[in-house]
Amino acid sequence: MSQVVYITLEQPTPNHIEYILKSQTDWIHPHLIESVDPVKGRQIRASEHIPKGTCVLIDHPYAIIPVVDDPATNDDLICSNPACNRRSPRHSGRFSCSNSCIADVAWCSSACRDADKARHDFECTWLKRYADPIRKKWGEYDFGMLWVIVRLLASRHTEPEPQKDNVVPTSQRLKRGWAGIESLCGSVDTWPHEQVRSWTTLLKKYLQNSPVLPHGFSSDQVLHLVCQEEANSFGLYPRETGIFPPPQPAVDRGEQFAAAVYPTAAMANHSCVPNMTHKPDEDGRMIFTASRDILPGQECCISYFDLTKYTDLASRREHLRKSFKFTCQCDRCTSEEPVEENDDWTSMPMMDL
Ligand SMILES: [Zn+2]
Ligand SMILES: [Zn+2]
Ligand SMILES: [Zn+2]
Repeated sequence: MSQVVYITLEQPTPNHIEYILKSQTDWIHPHLIESVDPVKGRQIRASEHIPKGTCVLIDHPYAIIPVVDDPATNDDLICSNPACNRRSPRHSGRFSCSNSCIADVAWCSSACRDADKARHDFECTWLKRYADPIRKKWGEYDFGMLWVIVRLLASRHTEPEPQKDNVVPTSQRLKRGWAGIESLCGSVDTWPHEQVRSWTTLLKKYLQNSPVLPHGFSSDQVLHLVCQEEANSFGLYPRETGIFPPPQPAVDRGEQFAAAVYPTAAMANHSCVPNMTHKPDEDGRMIFTASRDILPGQECCISYFDLTKYTDLASRREHLRKSFKFTCQCDRCTSEEPVEENDDWTSMPMMDL
């Protein structure tokens, strides 16, 4: 797994940002802290001023899957090696699985395929046996959800045990790796019964601990992981999400090419007037950038959807309720709420004059 750096520079210089972007390390801005809000739960805040344009976070996915139509001919298919994850156009000489599991699994080079052997071995038999039947019976969404879970379990399976002298000091506030995944929000109570029942059916059929998938977790633990994954996964799009106000003429974020779970990025809450934009880099890492000056104590938020869509209050709230199970109370939404009719007059009892 990648290393995380907490650098105590007052302000990272552009060269420094370039260095971080090119290296395999993650980046958490030194002024970013975790806190707990009584209503919203976990959130990230600025402990001190973070100027507009600053790179706030670079986070590696703990699990990532490609989401493309017709992977054999699609140029946006990502390399399966978690240390690489770059998009590999079909003419660039991709390498496929020697066990021919599924066309969605490919590597950009033989070196990436070899380096990814242990992790892919964990998922290969499962993919070969179940990918087709799941896609046919349940569809692409449920297949993608189950595959992300398998990849979370695969990363857990291959994650080195933390060495004693490598234990992250508590001053390094945000949890990383599997510990970060375990602390994500989401539980069976977050979701409607109907939904949880349907996941339970899928898990019983396809994700039991077995020789095909020797993960060692109980069914309840896997169900909990699904609840967390569904509450915290990101779609990866080629262009930025969360530019506000949206550029004119509006430019959307493009076609989704992957889905992923990030241990730290998942902690950012939503606002319809976010102070950070987010965009994956060419290695599938999620980059948060301050789109405005963020003041000390302010919460750092992203937008969970493309702000060029769902522009009015009613459609934003409906979309967030349906897809993310909350009613947005951000500054923009509350300021756009219609002023309640002052009906004091009409509710006054009639008086005989
Ligand atoms: Zn690669
Ligand atoms: Zn395979
Ligand atoms: Zn809102």
